[in-house]
Amino acid sequence: MPELPEVEVVRRGLESHVLHRTVRAVEVLHTRPVRRHLAGPADFAARLTGRTFTAARRRGKYLWLPLDTGDALLAHLGMSGQMLVQPVGAPDERHLRVRFRFADDGPELRFVDQRMFGGLSFTAGGADLPVEIVHIARDPLDAAFDDARFVARVRKRRSGIKRLLLDQGLISGVGNIYADEALWLARLHGERPGDRLRRAEVESVLAGAREVMAQALGEGGTSFDALYVNVNGESGYFDRSLQAYGQEGRACSRCGTAIVRVAFMNRSSYFCPVCQPRPRARRTS
Ligand SMILES: [Zn+2]
Repeated sequence: MPELPEVEVVRRGLESHVLHRTVRAVEVLHTRPVRRHLAGPADFAARLTGRTFTAARRRGKYLWLPLDTGDALLAHLGMSGQMLVQPVGAPDERHLRVRFRFADDGPELRFVDQRMFGGLSFTAGGADLPVEIVHIARDPLDAAFDDARFVARVRKRRSGIKRLLLDQGLISGVGNIYADEALWLARLHGERPGDRLRRAEVESVLAGAREVMAQALGEGGTSFDALYVNVNGESGYFDRSLQAYGQEGRACSRCGTAIVRVAFMNRSSYFCPVCQPRPRARRTS
């Protein structure tokens, strides 16, 4: 699944390739990716045809392209979605779902999605912030992210810190991989309850999340060429620098203890049992 740094790489790619370009035609090859547009695919296409993209924005893992009308095209990549910029006439991808042709006859924008958990929608008046995503918190790379507010909110919650890191209402863009990496950096076990953490511990895990995201962004930012705006759902380019996630049985690079994997919300959590000791059980009162 694309994590925030990869979505940011896509946003930057869109910013350099589709801004100030006017849509000449929209071709919906499969209806599922536009299922959230209740008026149907033909209406979706009609509302975007003739419009010009004026920016490329992101909140968490959502992307949106504001239009010259003040409306916007909202996109979520889901598990396997890709935004590709391809030359006109390039062979269709096997999982091509939506194609945007431009009035300048330049490269097309293509939405390719094998599993189709992602999708596109037209959002009326959504240029500044689509109504569909107002409930999503800012991400820690966002200049307007409020650190003090995040720390205070975490310290009022009884849930484990990993679960809180994945709560899009508190902080967005931290997926399973980045949560495990941030917790390893902060030397915190994911089951440590928010209301038992010291302020400095929450600040430390927030700094860890920023560090691992910034590192991934640095690597991802160099992994795509000028015409190919791509998200690799496997995020293979980043695997080599992971310290905890996916490292079961390998030595922790700080203390040498084998990294452990446990089940977590239908997925897995990876941590060092020495650097990140389990919390003691909460005393029942
Ligand atoms: Zn360790």
